[in-house]
Amino acid sequence: MEKVVSLCKRRGFIFQSSEIYGGVNGCWDFGPLGVELKRNLKNDWWYVNVLQRDDMVGLDASIIMHPQVWVASGHVEQFHDMLVDCKSCKHRFRQDHLDGSRCPDCGGELTEPKAFNSMLRTRLGVSDDTATDTYLRPETCQSIFVDFKDIYATSRMKIPFGIAQIGKSFRNEVNPRNFIFRSREFEQMEIEFFCKEPEEAKWFEHWLECIWTWYTDVGLNPKKIRWFEHPKEALAHYSKRTTDLEYEFPFGWGELQGLANRGTFDLTQHAQHSGKDLSFFDPDSKERFVPSVIEPSAGVDRTCLAILCDAYEEDVIDEEPRVVMRFHPRIAPIKAGVFPLVKKDGLADIARDLERKLRRKFATFYDQGGAIGRRYRRMDEIGTPFCITVDYETKENSTVTIRERDTTKQERLPMDEVGAYLEKRCTSERN
Ligand code: ATP
Repeated sequence: MEKVVSLCKRRGFIFQSSEIYGGVNGCWDFGPLGVELKRNLKNDWWYVNVLQRDDMVGLDASIIMHPQVWVASGHVEQFHDMLVDCKSCKHRFRQDHLDGSRCPDCGGELTEPKAFNSMLRTRLGVSDDTATDTYLRPETCQSIFVDFKDIYATSRMKIPFGIAQIGKSFRNEVNPRNFIFRSREFEQMEIEFFCKEPEEAKWFEHWLECIWTWYTDVGLNPKKIRWFEHPKEALAHYSKRTTDLEYEFPFGWGELQGLANRGTFDLTQHAQHSGKDLSFFDPDSKERFVPSVIEPSAGVDRTCLAILCDAYEEDVIDEEPRVVMRFHPRIAPIKAGVFPLVKKDGLADIARDLERKLRRKFATFYDQGGAIGRRYRRMDEIGTPFCITVDYETKENSTVTIRERDTTKQERLPMDEVGAYLEKRCTSERN
């Protein structure tokens, strides 16, 4: 884990927020390479789950919602962690994260557990007497329920269909830890899939399969992921069934994504609290009913972390150790490095020109500094799957070499076929 964290910092994937002021616990900044990786993941997820399906539409709702939303959803009442304090060192812990009954830091005696609401409170309005208290959303899904009627009326979708959203969520985690795994500000990719009650089990199975396929398609090792079925007695107040997809991080198995059968809980709650009818009228069967909801809920940051941990490898090439990030080309931050073998003799101009053309479609990186082997290694370390080199032969027959990161094998290709090659390997090719 330390190696991944240090590579992330060294190469500009992820930094601690406000580091020059000592940092903020549980808040992280995605640097130049991190933002590309994260965007590629989000775009891929959106492409597969929204654009490629005719039973899904998208939403981008506000982070701040009416405070009553959180009363109706149960968050004001139920979104509590039980906390204990150490009487000696004063450190605070979540009770469910402790193994024993003493303080894990100093062995001191612990207080009785106290409930602590994990929502981040904020104030809306400029003057003290009229401002209202509300919260930064702790999950993205509530806006989907609240907007359900507007969305189905305007998009002319019929049950079964889903609404997807990617966006920020906030939780006042007591012990943010394990790098970006448990943060206070993070992003979720959530789907609320609306169906008829008798079809809940069928759609639950459907989403189990879709989730597994997507994670393995973006390159996660199937041996490092597994399902965890929540026991009935431990289910959240809204859930009839919850199954988590877990990844084996260096610190142990951790949840990447949850899949929950929320039944009719949320729409019924919001209908009661708002006084608005949130039922669905099926024009074909002339039935009116409150749909059930199957919810795949994934964390963007946890997915990034799993991808980073999974991709990290150390090997030896030509008797030299190298660090290589084996990102799937679909999500690699940079798809191709473009280099002139040497700067002189017009090779740099040809390489620059090629790189400018490729950059219209692909994230590329031009590098003419240092020995060619060094330049390859720098690209390996940030997971660039292909390196294209312009050499003296290019001047004779307009061909270049393409080196693959994983095999380090090189092949020659006409320069005007490089675009199609990258297209095939980085965008259209599925596992
Ligand atoms: P945990 O039990 O680990 O606290 P959770 O069960 O509360 O997670 P959900 O409410 O199911 O999480 O949220 C859905 C997804 O959002 C999780 O699978 C995870 O990927 C992500 N997520 C939740 N909390 C955090 C957090 N504090 N930091 C980063 N991602 C998070």
